[in-house]
Amino acid sequence: MDEKHAVSRRRFVGGVTSALGLLTLEPGRLVSQAAGQVPRPQTTPDEYDTLAKLANNENPYGPPESVMKAMTGAFKYANRYGYPDGGIVDAIAKHHGVPRENVMLGAGSGAILDVAGTALLQDDRRIVSAEVSYDVLFQHVTALKADQIKVPLLPDFRQDIPATIAAVHANYRDVGMVYLCSPNNPTGRIVTRQEVAQLLDGIPSDVPVLIDEAYFHFVDDPDYATSIPYVLEGRQVIVCRTFSKIAALAGMRLGYCIAPRSLIQRMRPYADGAAINAIVKWGGVAALADTASQAWVKKTTLELRGKTVAALREYGYAVVPSDANFFMVHLRRPVQPAIEEFRKRGVLVGRPFAGLPEHLRVSIGTADEMSRFTVAFKDIFPAVKASNDGP
Ligand code: PLP
Repeated sequence: MDEKHAVSRRRFVGGVTSALGLLTLEPGRLVSQAAGQVPRPQTTPDEYDTLAKLANNENPYGPPESVMKAMTGAFKYANRYGYPDGGIVDAIAKHHGVPRENVMLGAGSGAILDVAGTALLQDDRRIVSAEVSYDVLFQHVTALKADQIKVPLLPDFRQDIPATIAAVHANYRDVGMVYLCSPNNPTGRIVTRQEVAQLLDGIPSDVPVLIDEAYFHFVDDPDYATSIPYVLEGRQVIVCRTFSKIAALAGMRLGYCIAPRSLIQRMRPYADGAAINAIVKWGGVAALADTASQAWVKKTTLELRGKTVAALREYGYAVVPSDANFFMVHLRRPVQPAIEEFRKRGVLVGRPFAGLPEHLRVSIGTADEMSRFTVAFKDIFPAVKASNDGP
């Protein structure tokens, strides 16, 4: 572990004592963050530092030294418009082996989802997607007054590809795009590479499919693969990636998509490239190069996920198998009061998701945060006999 990680960990250990007793958060007071509309509690900066932040699937360790150095160096451009940007578009294009004309940046991949929705759901077009999935996109879609065709998840919380194909065919004239989140937020389950092929081969080739790979870097399953090669094949596929998760730049706002030129041309008029700051562009270039730090984050996150999930299962609670830096636990009772109980104990956990009223989403934080979560869980919920309600 490098010094940066060691420092972060000490800071969180220091926060435990204060978080356990002294916090006075008001559970009802939630505000929306302008970028991405992530609900967050109003706290003072000092209170925020003491919380175990397991609500937003962030990287708890912060950017590595290499990225901090690149961003610090870019501060000198803070007063400029026409600054050198570190070559971020070329770096992304090279990283994926695609021409730069296939890359579009956004101030977070959430911005790209919004742009795709705005561009592709004009004229009363509808979006086909799983229910339950990343709902921030659907909020944007609702604001556009575009209709969502919801395909229920399978009983094991995986996405139902044959039903998705059927929904596209049944509504072909109206469908503006399909949204496929893999690993899916909030369930953490993947769509396998075979299923992606089945979907793309099973629907009319002119229906755009947006494949959200925000959690790509955490997957170990050999049946999973990026869908970027489909873009090079000329399929109507938009693959979204973010620097907010494995690269720890959520607060800096940088994401991108890889898509065919024709789709980028449709989306570009709605994209706000000027919303992306100089500093994160340099940070993004450094992040793409720092594969060692990302490997460490993945390994540590997966170990902590395994440990926490095992503890919950042993305590009698079913957990949805996850391939991401979060998981869902079945509480067998409504989620909202549980969120408030965790908050009283200084632990922020995921928001409720429509369609999964008894499943709590928990992000993987540091070792200290995960033990605070497990202690709080056992304080709030009784042990139950072996779970018998599926995954
Ligand atoms: N897509 C998914 C599935 C997410 O979970 C998130 C954020 O949590 C985003 C996109 C947006 O991330 P950002 O706008 O920070 O890149």
